Amino acid sequence: MQKTVQHIFSPPPAHTVGDGFHVHNFFPSGINQGIYRMSPFFLLDYGAPHFFPPTDEPRGVGVHPHRGFETVTIAYKGSVAHHDSAGNSGVIYEGDVQWMTAGSGVLHKEYHEENFAKKGGSMQMVQLWVNLPAKDKMTNPKYQGIVHKDIPVYNFPDNNGYAEIIAGELNGLRGIASTFTPLNLWNCKGKKGDTMTFQLPNTYNTGIVIIEGNVLINGSQKAETNHFVLFNNDGEEISLQGEDDFICLVLSGEPINETLVPYGPFVMNTKEQIIQAYEDFRSGKFGVLED
Ligand code: MN
Repeated sequence: MQKTVQHIFSPPPAHTVGDGFHVHNFFPSGINQGIYRMSPFFLLDYGAPHFFPPTDEPRGVGVHPHRGFETVTIAYKGSVAHHDSAGNSGVIYEGDVQWMTAGSGVLHKEYHEENFAKKGGSMQMVQLWVNLPAKDKMTNPKYQGIVHKDIPVYNFPDNNGYAEIIAGELNGLRGIASTFTPLNLWNCKGKKGDTMTFQLPNTYNTGIVIIEGNVLINGSQKAETNHFVLFNNDGEEISLQGEDDFICLVLSGEPINETLVPYGPFVMNTKEQIIQAYEDFRSGKFGVLED
């Protein structure tokens, strides 16, 4: 049975994160479906292609804390440099993915990579906040820097494109990222006319970001570039057909059925935990990172 489309959302008005990321927040705010609708995914900021002129001062977001969840950053165009207080740093180049577990708490900063900033160019990226279950919210910070060539690729039958399995599993092929709860994160890439069909559990919250091209969903509904497709939790099967060459980011996961109290850069389960997070941040328990 098909997983039916609940709604196809056009990108909400963009805002700038720091001075470097021009993003459309599809959720929790943009689609206006409440903070649990896409659980375990809590936030989706989509940076549609945006041109940044050359500069010697890389744009971005300065030092800030996170606790209680994971940030997943995918670069489609442009490159992002990252440093955190756990001592991890790296550059997310086109096609790469950074999976950072903030857990008990990190400070980090996210800037355009120096050479990209100097040359200027188009930036296109996704940042997801993936919630952690209560029992893992205070896990040690962790960092998975995933380069494009290491992401497992599933080829759909009869040359109908492929899926890069960042996390989860497709027809027995396991993704590269380790996750705390069951979820799938795939980049589906195909050419005009390619049709790919796949199954996801009907209990999983599921959405697709149309990164490139226009796509026909389930043979009948047209989804345009930069739109977000929200699926009902009914059937299991989804098909994507390219009306152009296309890239679709598929996100689907088992909901974490726990009360959430999000506030600023923290996603916790109670108000007391939020107050504690601010207290720990102020007293230096998140470590040290130079701006
Ligand atoms: Mn951040």
